[in-house]
Amino acid sequence: MPFSTLGLSEEIVRAVSEHGYTEPTPIQLQAIPAVLSGGDLLAGAQTGTGKTAGFVLPILHRLSDRSVKGPSSGRPPIRALILTPTRELAAQVEESVRVYGKYSKLNSLAMFGGVNINPQIQRLKSRVDILVATPGRLLDHVQQKTVDLSQVEILVLDEADRMLDMGFIRDIRRILALLPKARQNLLFSATFSDEIKTLADGLLDHPSLIEAPRRSLAADTVAQKVYPVDREKKRELLAHLIKQNNWRQVLVFTRTKHGANRLAEQLGKDGIPALAIHGNKSQAARTRALAEFKDGSLQVLVATDIAARGIDISELPHVVNFELPNVPEDYVHRIGRTGRAGLEGEAVSLVCVDEHRLLADIERLIKRTLPREVVAGFEPDPHAKPEPIQNGRNRGSMPGRGQPGGRPGARSPAPGAARPKAGPGGSVAGRQGVARRPAGRGR
Ligand code: AMP
Repeated sequence: MPFSTLGLSEEIVRAVSEHGYTEPTPIQLQAIPAVLSGGDLLAGAQTGTGKTAGFVLPILHRLSDRSVKGPSSGRPPIRALILTPTRELAAQVEESVRVYGKYSKLNSLAMFGGVNINPQIQRLKSRVDILVATPGRLLDHVQQKTVDLSQVEILVLDEADRMLDMGFIRDIRRILALLPKARQNLLFSATFSDEIKTLADGLLDHPSLIEAPRRSLAADTVAQKVYPVDREKKRELLAHLIKQNNWRQVLVFTRTKHGANRLAEQLGKDGIPALAIHGNKSQAARTRALAEFKDGSLQVLVATDIAARGIDISELPHVVNFELPNVPEDYVHRIGRTGRAGLEGEAVSLVCVDEHRLLADIERLIKRTLPREVVAGFEPDPHAKPEPIQNGRNRGSMPGRGQPGGRPGARSPAPGAARPKAGPGGSVAGRQGVARRPAGRGR
């Protein structure tokens, strides 16, 4: 069923199809009409299901629709508030708002901690229709009276279970108290602990209930493997694996555009046909690379996460993480490209000493330890020292994790305090009712 049948405006459908989506995912099929109807929603959806577009698209539609209550006079108010547990997710969701809303006149802002508050204060002086925020920094703005939430029409709690796991419940309740009573509430959560149910009971009014078909975080048909290797040996190992195993149709992920170009060139020199696709390539070059990859004439496609989004390639036999993504959820998105619809797939990650923390974050998210296999001749140097990862999507523009938030009086644990670990379907902090917030996260 195409997007155009869901009741979304032509501008939104155009933006979505230009982004490369041909049809809605199951959660979008259910969520979009439910949100368009104006009622509350309780959605069970994991990351990777397309849940973001499931709420962003109908929100854009509703806010653009003049028949829906809009600003009366004065400075245009914030009309939709989307709360997320982490800075990375806030940035990603806001990016989606911009992508899908490119033909709308709506403005958005991502607000999170760990970065200077002043540019956010400046930005809030102009029009922000849709605010995507982490709870801690939003409350900093509330305290400084730099944000006005009194006219919010739509509230989204995204990844509500993770917000509770991270000890945000009191912050959320403080924020809820600042919102107008009459509003639409959407709650997205991958799991439904008693705590989530309590939150939903108090927040939602006769909600529509929907659930995405559970897409196991690491699809059972995907064999996942980690190859520990030295940074400098990665390319050689990749060429070796491709040749040795005679892999065809290999989608390789790199962290940067430059890295994608360089790797594609080097593979070419190794006699392996490869092309890179990323945002700096012309549309014609991207289309050509994709067509050749799909028809099997191009053996390797090297892509960045952003470039791979929305391109309609799935059910691939091989996905390679040449570098691990900074955001663990991106790992799930990447490997979701393989092993679909019951087909066998293989997702391998080449991991050097710089990436051990990223690997640990991924394993925590997917709740399993990935098998390691050292290839003879590519044994990693046990004395290798990690180097900072450069040019990551979140470096420079965004703070690293675990960086102290620095808000006076913040309820961050003492430096060095352990980060609460979330167990399946629940959490340490949340369950025990201890309001703990890992330093710097989500603020
Ligand atoms: P999410 O669960 O919102 O994090 O989305 C997971 C991934 O699916 C993201 O990379 C999206 O860009 C992609 N995606 C979302 N909706 C669609 C769709 N209708 N068709 C293809 N890809 C989609």
